[in-house]
Amino acid sequence: MSPAALNLTIGTTNLAKGRELAELLRPHGFHVQTLKDFANPLAVVEDGQTFAANAQKKASQQAKHLGAWVLADDSGIEIDALGGKPGIYSARFAGEEATDEDNNEKLLAVLSKVPWEKRGAQYYCHVALADPSGAIRAESSGICRGRIRFEAAGTNGFGYDPLFEIVEYHRTFGELGPSVKKVISHRGRAMRAIVPLLTHLAGSGSWT
Ligand code: IMP
Repeated sequence: MSPAALNLTIGTTNLAKGRELAELLRPHGFHVQTLKDFANPLAVVEDGQTFAANAQKKASQQAKHLGAWVLADDSGIEIDALGGKPGIYSARFAGEEATDEDNNEKLLAVLSKVPWEKRGAQYYCHVALADPSGAIRAESSGICRGRIRFEAAGTNGFGYDPLFEIVEYHRTFGELGPSVKKVISHRGRAMRAIVPLLTHLAGSGSWT
């Protein structure tokens, strides 16, 4: 069966993240849907202790609920000077209802006395695919190293992107834009690792 016929739902309510994932999948022939295409998606509680546990939970519970193949990611930023924090709590770094701006402001404040050479950081992304029964059928992960600027630059991307500098480019993801981010980001790397597994599943006829 050709992958062109296969529906794949992206299990995220984060629009910017959903857009990035959809763009990474579309060239491979999947018909990509989002939770917006369903009347009653589940609000999955992200209470896992690792990126992997949260991605598996989001994919599995949503897939079972919708009766669809669901791909979910859990991602975040790990700051060297903070011992890897905020990690799985990246979206809520400045509080439960925090906006991207609140989180960035807090990160700049917390790192205000940390010198350049100690401002290393990485984005981490774990991706999981669940079949309509909720079983996890494929997983992968990706990392992207960078460092945290002293002030924001650029308006592309989302989340911590205006602060996250790719050292080799001397630019933040906010400045670099989607075509570079697609290639070198944690999400791009995780997706390139999982796509062969998806196409294998599609080719094996187990995807209906
Ligand atoms: P999640 O939706 O629970 O996976 O939370 C992901 C959070 O990590 C986002 O809200 C951002 O704060 C941060 N994050 C993950 N990936 C990125 C990215 O590509 N750019 C900027 N921030 C990111």
